Amino acid sequence: PAAKRPVGITDSSAGNAMQAPMPRRKVRRLRVTALENHRRSMQLHHTRRRLRDNEQALQAQLGENRGLHDELRRLARLDPLTGVQNRRALDEALAQAPRDGSGGLQPLSLLMLDVDHFKRVNDERGHEAGDEVLRLMAAQLRAGLRHDDLVYRYGGEEFVLLLPGADPEVATRRAEALRARVAACRFEVGGQALSMTVSIGLACAPADADQPEPLMRLADEALYRAKREGRDQVRRASGEATTTTA
Ligand code: GH3
Ligand code: MG
Ligand code: MG
Repeated sequence: PAAKRPVGITDSSAGNAMQAPMPRRKVRRLRVTALENHRRSMQLHHTRRRLRDNEQALQAQLGENRGLHDELRRLARLDPLTGVQNRRALDEALAQAPRDGSGGLQPLSLLMLDVDHFKRVNDERGHEAGDEVLRLMAAQLRAGLRHDDLVYRYGGEEFVLLLPGADPEVATRRAEALRARVAACRFEVGGQALSMTVSIGLACAPADADQPEPLMRLADEALYRAKREGRDQVRRASGEATTTTA
Protein backbone atom coordinates (compact mmCIF):
# COMPACT_ATOMS: atom_id res chain seq x y z
CA PRO A 1 0.00 0.00 0.00
CA ALA A 2 1.23 3.48 -0.90
CA ALA A 3 2.75 5.45 1.93
CA LYS A 4 0.96 8.57 3.00
CA ARG A 5 2.50 11.63 1.31
CA PRO A 6 3.08 14.87 3.13
CA VAL A 7 1.03 17.82 1.90
CA GLY A 8 2.70 20.02 -0.67
CA ILE A 9 4.87 17.37 -2.23
CA THR A 10 5.02 17.45 -6.01
CA ASP A 11 5.75 14.18 -7.59
CA SER A 12 5.25 14.38 -11.31
CA SER A 13 7.20 11.31 -12.25
CA ALA A 14 7.66 8.03 -10.59
CA GLY A 15 11.03 7.41 -9.01
CA ASN A 16 11.74 11.10 -8.17
CA ALA A 17 13.28 11.73 -4.82
CA MET A 18 10.80 13.08 -2.50
CA GLN A 19 10.96 16.84 -1.95
CA ALA A 20 10.09 18.75 1.14
CA PRO A 21 7.36 21.33 0.65
CA MET A 22 8.76 24.80 -0.06
CA PRO A 23 7.74 27.44 2.42
CA ARG A 24 5.80 30.33 0.84
CA ARG A 25 8.30 32.88 2.15
CA LYS A 26 11.11 31.12 0.35
CA VAL A 27 9.08 30.91 -2.85
CA ARG A 28 8.43 34.64 -2.66
CA ARG A 29 12.09 35.35 -2.06
CA LEU A 30 13.08 33.17 -5.00
CA ARG A 31 10.60 34.97 -7.22
CA VAL A 32 11.98 38.35 -6.14
CA THR A 33 15.53 37.16 -6.74
CA ALA A 34 14.59 35.80 -10.16
CA LEU A 35 12.96 39.09 -11.08
CA GLU A 36 15.95 41.01 -9.77
CA ASN A 37 18.32 38.81 -11.81
CA HIS A 38 16.24 39.32 -14.89
CA ARG A 39 16.30 43.10 -14.35
CA ARG A 40 20.10 43.01 -13.93
CA SER A 41 20.62 40.92 -17.03
CA MET A 42 18.49 43.37 -19.04
CA GLN A 43 20.59 46.21 -17.65
CA LEU A 44 23.78 44.37 -18.60
CA HIS A 45 22.40 43.77 -22.06
CA HIS A 46 21.71 47.49 -22.53
CA THR A 47 25.07 48.46 -21.08
CA ARG A 48 26.82 46.07 -23.45
CA ARG A 49 24.92 47.52 -26.38
CA ARG A 50 25.84 51.06 -25.32
CA LEU A 51 29.51 50.01 -24.99
CA ARG A 52 29.42 48.44 -28.43
CA ASP A 53 27.87 51.59 -29.90
CA ASN A 54 30.47 53.75 -28.14
CA GLU A 55 33.25 51.49 -29.38
CA GLN A 56 31.95 51.79 -32.93
CA ALA A 57 31.70 55.58 -32.62
CA LEU A 58 35.22 55.66 -31.19
CA GLN A 59 36.60 53.56 -34.05
CA ALA A 60 34.88 55.83 -36.58
CA GLN A 61 36.36 58.89 -34.82
CA LEU A 62 39.84 57.29 -34.78
CA GLY A 63 39.55 56.50 -38.49
CA GLU A 64 38.56 60.09 -39.19
CA ASN A 65 41.47 61.40 -37.07
CA ARG A 66 43.89 59.16 -38.93
CA GLY A 67 42.54 60.54 -42.21
CA LEU A 68 42.93 64.12 -40.98
CA HIS A 69 46.43 63.36 -39.71
CA ASP A 70 47.45 61.90 -43.10
CA GLU A 71 45.95 64.89 -44.88
CA LEU A 72 47.83 67.32 -42.60
CA ARG A 73 51.04 65.37 -43.20
CA ARG A 74 50.50 65.58 -46.94
CA LEU A 75 49.74 69.32 -46.84
CA ALA A 76 52.79 70.00 -44.66
CA ARG A 77 54.94 68.58 -47.48
CA LEU A 78 53.31 70.54 -50.30
CA ASP A 79 54.28 73.95 -51.58
CA PRO A 80 51.04 75.95 -51.63
CA LEU A 81 52.07 78.17 -54.56
CA THR A 82 53.10 75.53 -57.09
CA GLY A 83 51.50 72.35 -55.73
CA VAL A 84 54.78 70.41 -55.92
CA GLN A 85 56.39 68.98 -52.81
CA ASN A 86 58.49 71.21 -50.60
CA ARG A 87 61.92 71.10 -48.99
CA ARG A 88 60.73 69.10 -46.00
CA ALA A 89 59.51 66.38 -48.36
CA LEU A 90 62.87 66.50 -50.18
CA ASP A 91 64.79 66.07 -46.91
CA GLU A 92 62.64 63.06 -46.07
CA ALA A 93 63.00 61.55 -49.53
CA LEU A 94 66.78 61.85 -49.33
CA ALA A 95 66.89 60.42 -45.81
CA GLN A 96 64.80 57.46 -46.96
CA ALA A 97 66.55 56.92 -50.31
CA PRO A 98 67.69 53.31 -50.88
CA ARG A 99 71.19 52.49 -49.57
CA ASP A 100 73.66 49.78 -50.36
CA GLY A 101 75.12 47.38 -47.79
CA SER A 102 77.69 49.91 -46.54
CA GLY A 103 75.18 52.76 -46.17
CA GLY A 104 75.98 54.63 -49.39
CA LEU A 105 73.23 55.91 -51.66
CA GLN A 106 72.23 53.65 -54.49
CA PRO A 107 72.20 55.26 -57.96
CA LEU A 108 70.31 58.54 -57.70
CA SER A 109 70.81 61.77 -59.57
CA LEU A 110 69.98 65.16 -58.14
CA LEU A 111 69.28 68.24 -60.25
CA MET A 112 69.31 71.64 -58.61
CA LEU A 113 67.58 74.12 -60.84
CA ASP A 114 67.37 77.91 -60.51
CA VAL A 115 65.31 80.24 -62.70
CA ASP A 116 67.55 82.72 -64.49
CA HIS A 117 67.01 86.43 -63.84
CA PHE A 118 63.75 85.71 -62.11
CA LYS A 119 63.92 88.92 -60.13
CA ARG A 120 63.35 90.82 -63.39
CA VAL A 121 59.89 89.29 -63.70
CA ASN A 122 58.99 90.59 -60.26
CA ASP A 123 60.57 93.97 -60.91
CA GLU A 124 59.14 94.51 -64.38
CA ARG A 125 55.76 92.78 -64.16
CA GLY A 126 54.97 92.55 -60.48
CA HIS A 127 55.07 89.85 -57.82
CA GLU A 128 51.82 88.27 -59.05
CA ALA A 129 53.38 87.69 -62.47
CA GLY A 130 56.42 86.21 -60.69
CA ASP A 131 54.13 83.82 -58.82
CA GLU A 132 52.46 82.80 -62.05
CA VAL A 133 55.84 82.10 -63.68
CA LEU A 134 56.73 79.85 -60.72
CA ARG A 135 53.45 77.96 -61.09
CA LEU A 136 53.97 77.51 -64.82
CA MET A 137 57.61 76.54 -64.28
CA ALA A 138 56.58 73.85 -61.77
CA ALA A 139 54.02 72.58 -64.28
CA GLN A 140 56.70 72.40 -67.00
CA LEU A 141 59.06 70.48 -64.71
CA ARG A 142 56.30 68.11 -63.72
CA ALA A 143 55.37 67.56 -67.35
CA GLY A 144 58.99 66.65 -68.05
CA LEU A 145 59.15 63.98 -65.32
CA ARG A 146 59.47 60.27 -66.02
CA HIS A 147 58.20 57.33 -63.96
CA ASP A 148 59.94 57.60 -60.53
CA ASP A 149 61.22 61.16 -60.85
CA LEU A 150 60.22 63.69 -58.23
CA VAL A 151 60.20 67.48 -58.26
CA TYR A 152 60.45 69.71 -55.20
CA ARG A 153 60.36 73.45 -54.70
CA TYR A 154 63.52 73.98 -52.72
CA GLY A 155 62.78 77.66 -52.03
CA GLY A 156 62.18 80.93 -53.89
CA GLU A 157 62.77 80.15 -57.58
CA GLU A 158 64.85 77.03 -56.97
CA PHE A 159 63.67 73.51 -57.62
CA VAL A 160 65.26 70.12 -57.00
CA LEU A 161 64.59 67.03 -59.07
CA LEU A 162 65.43 63.53 -57.93
CA LEU A 163 65.96 60.89 -60.58
CA PRO A 164 66.18 57.54 -58.77
CA GLY A 165 68.26 54.97 -60.62
CA ALA A 166 69.56 57.49 -63.17
CA ASP A 167 73.31 57.19 -63.83
CA PRO A 168 75.36 60.28 -64.80
CA GLU A 169 74.86 59.75 -68.52
CA VAL A 170 71.09 59.38 -68.29
CA ALA A 171 70.80 62.22 -65.76
CA THR A 172 72.84 64.55 -67.97
CA ARG A 173 70.57 63.84 -70.92
CA ARG A 174 67.49 64.40 -68.77
CA ALA A 175 68.82 67.65 -67.32
CA GLU A 176 69.65 68.94 -70.78
CA ALA A 177 66.17 67.97 -72.04
CA LEU A 178 64.58 69.86 -69.13
CA ARG A 179 66.71 72.92 -69.77
CA ALA A 180 65.76 72.88 -73.45
CA ARG A 181 62.10 72.30 -72.63
CA VAL A 182 61.97 75.39 -70.42
CA ALA A 183 63.93 77.51 -72.92
CA ALA A 184 61.48 76.58 -75.67
CA CYS A 185 58.42 77.32 -73.57
CA ARG A 186 56.40 80.54 -73.71
CA PHE A 187 55.17 81.50 -70.27
CA GLU A 188 51.81 83.23 -70.65
CA VAL A 189 51.56 85.79 -67.89
CA GLY A 190 49.05 88.63 -67.84
CA GLY A 191 48.34 88.31 -71.54
CA GLN A 192 52.03 88.37 -72.47
CA ALA A 193 54.37 85.55 -73.44
CA LEU A 194 57.63 85.48 -71.49
CA SER A 195 60.73 83.51 -72.32
CA MET A 196 62.45 82.03 -69.30
CA THR A 197 65.58 79.96 -68.88
CA VAL A 198 66.97 77.84 -66.07
CA SER A 199 70.45 76.90 -64.91
CA ILE A 200 70.93 73.38 -63.61
CA GLY A 201 73.54 71.83 -61.33
CA LEU A 202 73.77 68.05 -61.44
CA ALA A 203 75.27 65.63 -58.94
CA CYS A 204 75.04 61.86 -59.19
CA ALA A 205 75.21 59.21 -56.48
CA PRO A 206 77.31 57.27 -55.99
CA ALA A 207 79.75 58.62 -58.60
CA ASP A 208 80.00 62.19 -57.22
CA ALA A 209 78.97 61.58 -53.61
CA ASP A 210 77.21 58.77 -51.81
CA GLN A 211 75.50 60.78 -49.06
CA PRO A 212 72.62 63.26 -49.37
CA GLU A 213 74.36 66.25 -47.82
CA PRO A 214 77.45 66.33 -50.10
CA LEU A 215 75.24 65.42 -53.06
CA MET A 216 73.16 68.56 -52.44
CA ARG A 217 76.24 70.68 -51.87
CA LEU A 218 77.91 69.50 -55.08
CA ALA A 219 74.73 70.09 -57.10
CA ASP A 220 74.54 73.59 -55.62
CA GLU A 221 78.18 74.30 -56.54
CA ALA A 222 77.59 73.01 -60.06
CA LEU A 223 74.50 75.24 -60.32
CA TYR A 224 76.51 78.32 -59.43
CA ARG A 225 79.09 77.37 -62.00
CA ALA A 226 76.30 77.21 -64.59
CA LYS A 227 75.24 80.71 -63.48
CA ARG A 228 78.75 82.13 -63.62
CA GLU A 229 79.41 80.64 -67.00
CA GLY A 230 76.41 82.29 -68.62
CA ARG A 231 73.13 80.67 -67.34
CA ASP A 232 70.74 78.53 -69.42
CA GLN A 233 73.03 75.56 -69.07
CA VAL A 234 73.71 72.34 -67.18
CA ARG A 235 76.85 71.70 -65.15
CA ARG A 236 77.79 68.51 -63.40
CA ALA A 237 79.57 68.26 -60.06
CA SER A 238 82.63 66.70 -61.65
CA GLY A 239 83.37 70.05 -63.24
CA GLU A 240 82.91 68.98 -66.83
CA ALA A 241 80.71 71.18 -69.01
CA THR A 242 77.83 68.99 -70.16
CA THR A 243 76.08 71.35 -72.53
CA THR A 244 76.67 74.56 -74.36
CA THR A 245 74.30 77.49 -74.16
CA ALA A 246 71.44 77.06 -76.61
P1 GH3 B 1 69.89 84.53 -61.13
O1 GH3 B 1 69.83 84.32 -62.60
O2 GH3 B 1 71.26 84.84 -60.66
O3 GH3 B 1 69.29 83.38 -60.39
O4 GH3 B 1 69.02 85.81 -60.82
P2 GH3 B 1 67.62 85.88 -60.11
O5 GH3 B 1 67.07 87.23 -60.37
O6 GH3 B 1 66.78 84.73 -60.51
O7 GH3 B 1 68.03 85.61 -58.62
P3 GH3 B 1 67.80 86.39 -57.29
O8 GH3 B 1 68.20 85.43 -56.21
O9 GH3 B 1 68.48 87.72 -57.34
O10 GH3 B 1 66.24 86.65 -57.24
C1 GH3 B 1 65.34 85.69 -56.86
C2 GH3 B 1 64.06 86.42 -56.57
O11 GH3 B 1 62.99 85.54 -56.38
C3 GH3 B 1 64.14 87.25 -55.32
C4 GH3 B 1 62.86 87.00 -54.61
O12 GH3 B 1 62.19 88.16 -54.25
C5 GH3 B 1 62.04 86.22 -55.60
N1 GH3 B 1 61.12 85.26 -55.00
C6 GH3 B 1 61.38 84.31 -54.10
N2 GH3 B 1 60.27 83.61 -53.81
C7 GH3 B 1 59.28 84.16 -54.55
C8 GH3 B 1 57.88 83.87 -54.67
O13 GH3 B 1 57.32 82.96 -54.05
N3 GH3 B 1 57.16 84.64 -55.52
C9 GH3 B 1 57.73 85.64 -56.25
N4 GH3 B 1 56.96 86.34 -57.08
N5 GH3 B 1 59.03 85.95 -56.13
C10 GH3 B 1 59.80 85.22 -55.30
MG1 MG C 1 67.93 81.63 -56.61
MG1 MG D 1 67.40 82.77 -60.03
